[in-house]
Amino acid sequence: MKPGVLPHMWCSGCGIGGMLGALLRAFEELGYANTDTVVVTGIGCTGKADDYLLTNALHTTHGRALAFATGIKAFKPKLNVVVLMGDGDSVTIGGNHFIHAARRNIDLTAIVLNNLNYGMTGGQVSGTTPGWAITSTTAYGNPERAFDICALAETAGANYVARCTPDQGWEMKEIMKQALGRKGFSLVEVVSPCPTHFGRYNEMKETPEMLRWLGERAMPVELYRKLPQGEHKDRFPVGTLVDRNEPDFNTRYDTIRARARQEA
Ligand code: SF4
Repeated sequence: MKPGVLPHMWCSGCGIGGMLGALLRAFEELGYANTDTVVVTGIGCTGKADDYLLTNALHTTHGRALAFATGIKAFKPKLNVVVLMGDGDSVTIGGNHFIHAARRNIDLTAIVLNNLNYGMTGGQVSGTTPGWAITSTTAYGNPERAFDICALAETAGANYVARCTPDQGWEMKEIMKQALGRKGFSLVEVVSPCPTHFGRYNEMKETPEMLRWLGERAMPVELYRKLPQGEHKDRFPVGTLVDRNEPDFNTRYDTIRARARQEA
């Protein structure tokens, strides 16, 4: 954390500070050096996170953080590359880059703070806003269906996929350590309160109400998978959802390059 930057800019009760704290503790426990680590951000409330960091940082354009991060990892494979995005950056405006980063299985860790709306610009509907939710642009309800970010990453080919909520401080740090330690594309979704916009429009103005609402829906993945068909309702699983070891992009590329040299 940069000295002299606190207090941070996020609203009281926002989950971004807790997410960043867990990530910094994970860096420390894994012994990541600032010089060997680059944090890439996009635009929005989560995109401001690099203002507080001493690691290398790249603040990019909206929805393109994963494209920039892919270039960094392809060119400098030894760097630890971490991408911090909101739901807008990752799967709404940035959806195509998200799918292809997971498909390539590029060796980086994407952390998505999913606050279910566009927070910084006034609480507009995003690609993860639930169908019933009111936002500043869906005053009578949202006609669109929401993306399941973890299912999207799994289907597109990510090696590691996990989900947590900001009240799981210790577990969140442990999940981030696992994600950072896996080769290939790792995704951690943090489903987070945004009391300022999402909560205000949906009768959860106070942070405890939003945390209670999240707590009633989050369920350990082991229990979630045992629920009978039709009883999942609006619950979502938390914990490690996918953990596999497919070759990452740079490994595949090195194999092709070696073969090309042999045949030249
Ligand atoms: Fe957090 Fe929402 Fe405030 Fe942005 S607007 S800092 S997401 S609470």
